[in-house]
Amino acid sequence: MNAKLPSAAIKPIDLQVLRDCLRGELIEPDHSDYAEARSVWNGMIDRFPAAIARCRGVRDVAACIGFAHDNAIPIAVRGGGHNVAGHATCDNGLVIDLSPMNRVEIDPAARIAKVQGGATWADVDNAAQAFGLATPGGVYSGTGVAGLTLGGGFGWLRNQYGLSCDNLIGAQVVTADGRVIRADETYNADLLWGLRGGGGNFGIVTEFEFRLHPVGPEVMFAFVFHDGRGDKMHQAIRRYRDFCAEAPDQVSTIMACGVIPPEPDIFPTEIHGIPFVLFGGLYAGPADEGQRALQPLLDFGKPLVDHSGIMPYVEAQQVFDPDYPKGMRYYWKSLNLQHLDDEVIDRIVEHANRQVSPYSTTDLWHIGGAVARGSAEDSAFYGRQAAFLLNPEANWQNPEDDAANIGWVQAFIDDMEEFSDGSRYLNFAGFQEEGDEMMRKGFGPQHARLAALKRKYDPHNLFRLNQNVKPA
Ligand code: FAD
Repeated sequence: MNAKLPSAAIKPIDLQVLRDCLRGELIEPDHSDYAEARSVWNGMIDRFPAAIARCRGVRDVAACIGFAHDNAIPIAVRGGGHNVAGHATCDNGLVIDLSPMNRVEIDPAARIAKVQGGATWADVDNAAQAFGLATPGGVYSGTGVAGLTLGGGFGWLRNQYGLSCDNLIGAQVVTADGRVIRADETYNADLLWGLRGGGGNFGIVTEFEFRLHPVGPEVMFAFVFHDGRGDKMHQAIRRYRDFCAEAPDQVSTIMACGVIPPEPDIFPTEIHGIPFVLFGGLYAGPADEGQRALQPLLDFGKPLVDHSGIMPYVEAQQVFDPDYPKGMRYYWKSLNLQHLDDEVIDRIVEHANRQVSPYSTTDLWHIGGAVARGSAEDSAFYGRQAAFLLNPEANWQNPEDDAANIGWVQAFIDDMEEFSDGSRYLNFAGFQEEGDEMMRKGFGPQHARLAALKRKYDPHNLFRLNQNVKPA
């Protein structure tokens, strides 16, 4: 996966044709920015592309696709570069980097956001909140809108307004044959269905169009670390399960188990190393109502640390940002849990307590409300049937610890399979080691329709460095 190629081993490709027609920069191995340009967020990923094309518009994107097709070279498409499996870079191929294309236009009257394919959620949140509006994103503002939306998109507004992909109402797409087409309910509606959770399989999205909702600008946000020692971790997960069963749709939550990491700037030193349970939640409605609705998450003994309160929505969207620095080593996997009964909780606690790195956590995402009500007819996303998404995330610093951290996550997931239908969130899919089998399980009954759509829009599987569905 991470074989170190000296740059001399990069196969020479004549890039002159591409160089001549790009408006954006083409970064080749001898360029001073090459080291930075080839890197992605996950420090585990260490690849050497032949070039990185920093696209400045739709024509650049189309030129890259044409060049890659004509020269039969692999491509990697980059939105925010935060895919955990490292799909935004490749060895000996062309990285089509959309990050310079990050414009966001808000139409407050129509409540629509037009978002270019390289924007991050911070770009969207900031622009939309200027009008008191938002569309569901993730819980970390640095991820790309593209990869997150195309894979589904779980965030703090999901139970009220659905996944990010549920709010996608239109897109401009450059297809494998270089055409620029529109996908919405009127034109190429089948493609819109596929873009709603079917991954980057069908083309490069140069512009997303999202439905906006009134949110904030101030919201009630719970972010509280409770003591997880002794039996408290079991108790807290039971509390979380029972809370979710009763919570209204306005409440979207996450809980995480871990140990307080040795980060004196964030946590007082006297609590470092103590097992914790984190409850995080946002109320998409009036802040005073939110205080009442989220209070049960705060009333669980005396917290270790409590950052809850009424705050700007944009600030709540960034609460996790300092926890995931670029360049650290990451391996995240997930599983859709059918239920969270006491036996499942015991098993989760057993594995959570075996985490190797103090930076790792075991996360549970409640799936309910608008997510659960969304239909397979409207979107390719699969996973709405689950009760909770389980996501052990290993986060560590030293390459010597790779095997132990990856092993922790894999053993955890293997042991929990019996509580799942085998599906998982494909944006948290390890390094997709299981290949086709993972895609079949991950997309469940949607897989056959996706494979037929792939045959229509990308019959030669040009876009394959992704949650890949092979053409039927
Ligand atoms: P990239 O690596 O740029 O791309 C990811 C995939 O999308 C690739 O397969 C790529 O080919 C394709 N792609 C990228 N841009 C385009 C485009 N314009 N057109 C077509 N295909 C494209 N997920 C959640 O649901 N909720 C969360 O709260 C959440 N938090 C996260 C926090 C962190 C720190 C990280 C690293 C990830 C998180 N994720 C979350 C997972 C996230 O959804 C995925 O990592 C996602 O792939 C990131 O998208 P990106 O555009 O940054 O990735």
